[in-house]
Amino acid sequence: LFDACGRSEWRRQRLAILCYHGVSISDEHEWDPALYLNEESLRRRFERMNRLGCRVLALSEAVERLAHGTLPDLAVSITFDDGTHDFYLRAAPLLKEFGFPATVYLTTYYVDRPFPVFEVALSYTIWKAENIHALHDINDLKPYLRDLYRHRTDPYATASGIREFAAAMGLSAQERDALLTRVAEAVGVDLREFRERRMLTLMSSEEVESLPDLVDVQLHTHRHRSPATRDAFVREIRDNRDRIGQLLGPEHVLEHFCYPSGVYDPVQLPWLVDLGIKSATTVVSGLAGPEDPPLLLPRVIDTMNLTDLEFEGWITGAWPRMLSMARLRP
Ligand SMILES: [Zn+2]
Repeated sequence: LFDACGRSEWRRQRLAILCYHGVSISDEHEWDPALYLNEESLRRRFERMNRLGCRVLALSEAVERLAHGTLPDLAVSITFDDGTHDFYLRAAPLLKEFGFPATVYLTTYYVDRPFPVFEVALSYTIWKAENIHALHDINDLKPYLRDLYRHRTDPYATASGIREFAAAMGLSAQERDALLTRVAEAVGVDLREFRERRMLTLMSSEEVESLPDLVDVQLHTHRHRSPATRDAFVREIRDNRDRIGQLLGPEHVLEHFCYPSGVYDPVQLPWLVDLGIKSATTVVSGLAGPEDPPLLLPRVIDTMNLTDLEFEGWITGAWPRMLSMARLRP
């Protein structure tokens, strides 16, 4: 069945844009299996794509051929969101080994700040907490605490109060990092290894500059936000474009975009057109087809939660096709 679907005309008109975030340096995939997968799983995916005979195309070529209806059989594009240090360490060598091109949507704010990304690092620390209730001993934090009992099952919920505190206090990146240390010490988490191995940090400017040619760096906003007002939105893209342009040179073409956290507003589409953006990807699950607007391309969100069989179902088109046929029935 997978084989027949893979060679169908329906699949030939479509592109599987794989969406990844990070590849674990340590145990990140146990903390957030929807955000991180381990290297072994990523290698298995790549091997499976080779066995199926997938054609892995650079995104710029793939979206053009999608628009012209000239995609090869089993066309796939690989994208990584954010541009983490672990991408550089784990994913880039694997891409080189397999000879697969990929796009990394780079958010640039933390590229110039040598701290772990506060929001996610906080969630990771909360998940690891030995004694979560010790947070009550941090006086200024007390009024913001909630959902402490969920710290293992939904660490983001528990961390949300602390994030609110940081926002209310207007803390800088450095002050947020100091708060992360205070929280970790209070709840009994040793962050030394985490910091030494640069877990949950972004690539440094040197790392961005030394990425292999197979990796195309594209836009993801400067501060990882997607404002619904024109000026703020345009500024996010411009700051992002300027910084990547400084790193990779003015001749590096930046016309592909990924909505941060998949958040978008239809009012943003004409702004993206004005900014010269040719494609934009979401976190809506699906194969990109001729019916999809180029600025709202769905992706196949590949995570630890997907089995190899489900992955194959997505890549060959068997699974999305079954879903669409089921939807057509009364
Ligand atoms: Zn992102």
